[in-house]
Amino acid sequence: MAYIRDMALDPALLEILVCPECKTPVRLVRDGAGLQCGTCHRIYPVKDDIPVMLVDEAEAPAAGR
Ligand SMILES: [Zn+2]
Repeated sequence: MAYIRDMALDPALLEILVCPECKTPVRLVRDGAGLQCGTCHRIYPVKDDIPVMLVDEAEAPAAGR
């Protein structure tokens, strides 16, 4: 059985989180340490299991890959 041990964030919470910039749902990246917007690709940090959905705190998308 698949079991995500480090799943700290509540999936129900994840579903309502959106990028404050473009209102796009975000998805978990970096093993739960970040939340990435599917539109602008900003990565919002997760601090102490609390998503920080602030554009000022977000990591801008890196150029290229
Ligand atoms: Zn966005």
